[in-house]
Amino acid sequence: MPKQLTIGLTGGIGSGKTAVSDHFATLGIDIVDADVISHAITAHNSPILGQLQDAFGVDIVKNGTLDRSRLRSLVFDDPAKLATLNAITHPAIRERILTKLNQATSPYVILSAPLLLESIKGDDKGLTALCDRILVVDVPVDLQIQRASRRDGQSIQQIQAIIAKQIDRPTRLHLADDVVDNSGDLATLYQQLAKLHQYYLTLSSQT
Ligand code: ATP
Repeated sequence: MPKQLTIGLTGGIGSGKTAVSDHFATLGIDIVDADVISHAITAHNSPILGQLQDAFGVDIVKNGTLDRSRLRSLVFDDPAKLATLNAITHPAIRERILTKLNQATSPYVILSAPLLLESIKGDDKGLTALCDRILVVDVPVDLQIQRASRRDGQSIQQIQAIIAKQIDRPTRLHLADDVVDNSGDLATLYQQLAKLHQYYLTLSSQT
């Protein structure tokens, strides 16, 4: 476990995780972003890149850089390939996340991970094993689709296909210790985050 109170932040595509983590950052809280780390471990010439080429073919790397969209399309509808990808990348991601969490100096730390709850596999708690609490950003699915498609320029069907691969909303809410409702405006979101911040500061002072 990391040395200080760790809050795992998650939510579906377009739910507002970035809006939430950006706001916690303005409150002086260190953020560890699993997405940033998963990019970093496949940086130019990294050992992981070589392993991915062995598993998925040399074409997966172009000019020393991982072709992410090609890799995504290879694993999207292929559970065996996805399992291979995860087996190669997850241990390295987890190790780097733990290092970053332990380097944090704020009273508590946020681990932002879109697939935090999806990383739970049976008895394996996945990345949730690194977290003291789970914070879910929640919006109704229609708003999720609207915000994500507006931001990415992707079609509604593309967003729906991604949502279908993610954990469903009731299960996500069931696994949450804390929930922020992001169906309102940003000011309403920030009011909820201010309260949570105080709560987490209190918890961190008790540990
Ligand atoms: P992803 O997992 O897809 O990266 P995310 O969960 O990080 O998404 P954000 O990028 O924070 O979600 O938000 C999705 C979009 O919705 C962004 O364009 C953001 O500016 C917008 N947004 C977030 N919260 C609100 C809000 N309360 N009101 C209006 N727009 C919002």
